[in-house]
Amino acid sequence: MGIRLEDGLWLAASGRSGSHISDPYDCDVYLADTGDGLVLVDTGVGPAGDAPLSCLRACGFSPADVALILLTHGHADHAGNACHLREATGAPVKAHPACARAVSRGDTAAIALDAALAAGLYPPGYRFRPCPVEPLADGQTFRLGRTEWLAVATPGHCDGHMAYLMRKEGRGYLFAGDSLFLGGRVLLQNIPDCSIPAYAKTADRLLALDFDALLPAHFGVDLSEGKSHIEKAAALFHALAVPPQAGR
Ligand SMILES: [Zn+2]
Repeated sequence: MGIRLEDGLWLAASGRSGSHISDPYDCDVYLADTGDGLVLVDTGVGPAGDAPLSCLRACGFSPADVALILLTHGHADHAGNACHLREATGAPVKAHPACARAVSRGDTAAIALDAALAAGLYPPGYRFRPCPVEPLADGQTFRLGRTEWLAVATPGHCDGHMAYLMRKEGRGYLFAGDSLFLGGRVLLQNIPDCSIPAYAKTADRLLALDFDALLPAHFGVDLSEGKSHIEKAAALFHALAVPPQAGR
């Protein structure tokens, strides 16, 4: 299934905090065609979700066409399906070094899954499958087909969070994960590695990037005026305020 956002860009999975086309616990999973292989950004909750594979098949691709799987962070709604998609596609999975370490080890404390399960945020009995993940450094760039990518460390929502800037044919696309959302909203959680000062620095960092489309992992996308949302959040942080909470 999936939802086509524009040429070569699809919403491949999306749960109840988005478009509700797949497992209700899935984050928004993006599929980008680079012209020389596909990139998946985030994977959904898993542990065996096939929505991203159904999407790419419906678009005329095969799982072997996936060249790279990127994780924005280790929370289970983003990384819980990584192992399944890695096995199904043969593609490497990459993330911030701290996220890579936690997901590779299945460190459920570090990815706040222990706390999330205790809070009832996932179904009872949900199990996280560890997945080998390769580290990407802050500021690392790479090229795939007609796309150029930049990995940007974006703590605040949690440690080990990375956003990914993709440039393709003169346009910029920010895959923002759980950093910043439409309306300049943020996603604060009562977990040890959620930090308002780090969030404020992240907003400034994202504000300095050149992009058109803001593609967060929940609560909708803006394909043309993406930067306006970052400006709102940064202005509030500069006034020592905290932007409103996403999804409320
Ligand atoms: Zn998260």
